[in-house]
Amino acid sequence: MNNEILLKNLRNVPDFPIKGIQFKDVSTLFKNPECIQIMVDELYEMYKDKGITKVVGIESRGFIVGAILAYRLGAGFVMCRKPGKLPAETKQMTYNKEYGTDTIEIHTDAITEDDVVLLHDDLLATGGSMYAAYQLVKEFNPKNVMINFIIELTIEGLNGREVFPDECDITTLIKI
Ligand code: AMP
Repeated sequence: MNNEILLKNLRNVPDFPIKGIQFKDVSTLFKNPECIQIMVDELYEMYKDKGITKVVGIESRGFIVGAILAYRLGAGFVMCRKPGKLPAETKQMTYNKEYGTDTIEIHTDAITEDDVVLLHDDLLATGGSMYAAYQLVKEFNPKNVMINFIIELTIEGLNGREVFPDECDITTLIKI
């Protein structure tokens, strides 16, 4: 029921950023007070008993709900960013995209072995960017790593889940 409200308010932008892509524009969920409450409340219920100590948001749409959720869970918030944005010492992970490669970074002091981490982003498409973030976070050897997306795209033959190992705990609020 709640997910129907999210689906109804999610804007689809055809041919953005390039022809053929059906872009799921989460800005229409972020600007809607009911939708942002639904998303954060649902995620809070899902993760409140998991002992999460750090929420890691992926730049940039993963920062919005990720940071609010961290506050609700009483956890810290960590940014996983594009190269050159984080000011202190970083670790990097480079991953393949459809055309070329991309890199993400995290501060080397962002996570400790005592942390229970929830990785969060707005949307799962191929899974490439989140898998890179997952590998980066695993290098810190935290107690546990969980993964969440607001939207999971399964149309057009996409199955982003399959890039992750079977033991990965992945949740999504809406499947399209
Ligand atoms: P991927 O690494 O292929 O799973 O891509 C996920 C990232 O790209 C997310 O951070 C999304 O914000 C963005 N993205 C990929 N495809 C779409 C789409 N169809 N609509 C909106 N965002 C997308």
